[in-house]
Amino acid sequence: MSTIARVAATLMDGKALAAEIRADVAREVAELGHVGLATVLVGDDPASQVYISLKQKAAAEAGIDARDVRLSEGSTEDEVLALVRELNHDVEVDGILVQLPLPGQIDEARVTGAVAPAKDVDGIHPVNAGYLYLGAPLHVPATPAGCMELLTAYGVDPTGKHAVVLGRSEIVGRPAAMLLLQANATVTMCHSKTADLAAEVRRADIVVAAVGVPGIVTADMVKPGAAVLDVGLTRTDEGIRGDVAAEVADVAGHLTPMPGGTGPMTIALLLRSAVKAARFRRGLLAYPSL
Ligand code: NAP
Repeated sequence: MSTIARVAATLMDGKALAAEIRADVAREVAELGHVGLATVLVGDDPASQVYISLKQKAAAEAGIDARDVRLSEGSTEDEVLALVRELNHDVEVDGILVQLPLPGQIDEARVTGAVAPAKDVDGIHPVNAGYLYLGAPLHVPATPAGCMELLTAYGVDPTGKHAVVLGRSEIVGRPAAMLLLQANATVTMCHSKTADLAAEVRRADIVVAAVGVPGIVTADMVKPGAAVLDVGLTRTDEGIRGDVAAEVADVAGHLTPMPGGTGPMTIALLLRSAVKAARFRRGLLAYPSL
């Protein structure tokens, strides 16, 4: 047996931090009097149904007026667009979240682009993505925002660090890279065409793994002491698996557990985004014109 002591990573407890954020959100909702969030689910994708129920439950617990709007699997793009426009004009609705993916007959970009930018709590409208790119974000996708909150809470300052983001989706990878850049990290983005993923990850002080391939980040790829955020989430016969192999806990300095890490933070940051939308719509939050 090796005599070298193995140092376990500090676990970044997303569940506990999310509970604190949700309590803050509940206080802010009470102060504002009313915050309305509409979630839109099209079709019967089982994973999406689970995500919507979690978001609805969390919103209701925070005192948010949560409207659960559902359309059938066979809905046309025009029907979904008409619903989005109706919600854009509904004065009771501060924030709108369209659960992705949408059924194949619907162009997702057209639908997400139809949500009023001020109500786009998911932060994926081109206007919000543009503001994030320019370093002046209003609504930011909740998952990468949650990753940044975890780093802050655990005293990991990205300034001058090398951050490596695995995945380049609009909802996780790209915004995570932009937020890390804004926090003064030197950022590398990796994707399915990256030539040597292991070599890129080995240089990282901060790793955000958002691929959806269980265990793709192995212990030999991680620099000792690095902060590793596991976003990837895959349902397997053995339960939910993240992108980060369990043994990474022996090498990393900080690590998010799976589950109980980035998932609960995503929900908490979505609720915070709904409060932000309500403040913005009431003129309590100054911002460039939207
Ligand atoms: P996505 O749109 O499918 O993007 C996956 C990304 O991973 C793509 O950029 C893809 O590259 C890249 N990729 C795929 N295989 C790769 C490989 N072998 N090596 C390197 N990169 C590879 O997924 P997403 O919406 O960003 O979600 C990513 C994961 O996070 C999923 O498992 C999802 O369930 C999970 N998720 C978790 C949370 C949470 O709260 N924890 C929230 C949202 C999503 P290309 O661009 O080249 O195809």
